[in-house]
Amino acid sequence: MEKIFLKSDINLKYENYPFEGLKKSLKILPDDVVKKIKKSTLKGRGGAGFPTGLKWEFSNKIDSDIKIVICNGDEGEPGTFKDRYLMENMPFKVIEGILICGYATKSRYGYIYIRGEYDLAIKKIKRTIEKMYKNNLIGNNILGSNFSFDLKVIRGAGAYVCGDETSLINSIEGKRGISRIKPPLPINKGLYDKPTVVNNVETLCTCAEIMKYENDIFLEMGTSNSRGTKLVSVSGDIYESGVYEVEFGKNTINDIIKMCGGIIGKEIGMIIPGGIATECLIKEELNTLYTYEDLEKIGSSIGSGGMIIINNEKNIFEILKNVSDFFKNETCGTCFPCREGNKNINIILENSIKNNTISKEKIEIISEIKQAIGLASRCGFGQSSVNLILSILNKKVKNHEYQH
Ligand code: NAD
Repeated sequence: MEKIFLKSDINLKYENYPFEGLKKSLKILPDDVVKKIKKSTLKGRGGAGFPTGLKWEFSNKIDSDIKIVICNGDEGEPGTFKDRYLMENMPFKVIEGILICGYATKSRYGYIYIRGEYDLAIKKIKRTIEKMYKNNLIGNNILGSNFSFDLKVIRGAGAYVCGDETSLINSIEGKRGISRIKPPLPINKGLYDKPTVVNNVETLCTCAEIMKYENDIFLEMGTSNSRGTKLVSVSGDIYESGVYEVEFGKNTINDIIKMCGGIIGKEIGMIIPGGIATECLIKEELNTLYTYEDLEKIGSSIGSGGMIIINNEKNIFEILKNVSDFFKNETCGTCFPCREGNKNINIILENSIKNNTISKEKIEIISEIKQAIGLASRCGFGQSSVNLILSILNKKVKNHEYQH
């Protein structure tokens, strides 16, 4: 039986939500909150999987007059809608996570940056913040403690690249949404040059849940390298799209497809496991266990958890062009290998749609462009922009496993 962890309070209304994670955190020292999160081995759920406890520990140790927490709710990754689900259904838990992070890292101010299209999420988070201010859960001396924290909502303006933490910081500062060179990392020099911890919505909700329990419940779920559960937003050629909570190590990719009512169409074509920055999986890989390590073994990753299922009736070149259109349109254009490389890949794929084929030489050129972008672009956008395209070309097209 699956353990439901993150979704456990899904049926609660604000009035009945006990804020147990926050209350328990305020009873112990910030350092002990950090220790507990570090012990959980939680990996960031935005996509990169950086250990959350380690990030909080670095931040906790930084001495500064002002420190800031940003919750990244600019969920722009195609096929990813689990943060929207959390913000719409459990806004109190999202904010509880932000407060716990603020307390643990000794930060005084917080921002939640929400994707501009997420109207309902913005409304719900704003309303919850108002209520929490009234109930002394945000503001000065929260629940009678020495911890004070103010929180503000920022609405994104529709740029995918602003999901990158440094572009997001520029956007809050009113600057153009382009990434900054790292280092310095935001934990050292972030918003208005102040030390800033940036965490994803699901990551912060998971922290709120971890802090709720006296024991280390998180360590009892999943595998040694992939602890806990993960929200997977599944869409595409399946009967029941939605947000599913999956315990790591208990399900294969095929089990997840079955959970979603099975595939529409005769046969699986490919699976995009974690947003279009991740490499595709093919039907021979359906029995792969859903864990960080098992996906890594076959050259892919958990990414953002945005899983897209595609049957084998789709035109593979149209899929490739569609992915490429996205990267061509969304590149911020600052690093020219990313801007020009993605444009050139798009032209190659445009021709492959016309001819319904692509030569080995063109695949080689795309592979070289990928290397150049990977080496010379400053943010994750460029570095991962060709992952999916090249994996589809290598796994499907080279083997002629595509529709004519
Ligand atoms: P990254 O590996 O550079 O960093 C991940 C996080 O760890 C950042 O917060 C970074 O500041 C922090 N970090 C890294 N090294 C650190 C250190 N030594 N000390 C302290 N903190 C450190 O990755 P990234 O570029 O921030 O993110 C890329 C990922 O974002 C991709 O995997 C992509 O899938 C994902 N993504 C997700 C969405 C979404 O909608 N969820 C959208 C776009 C991209």
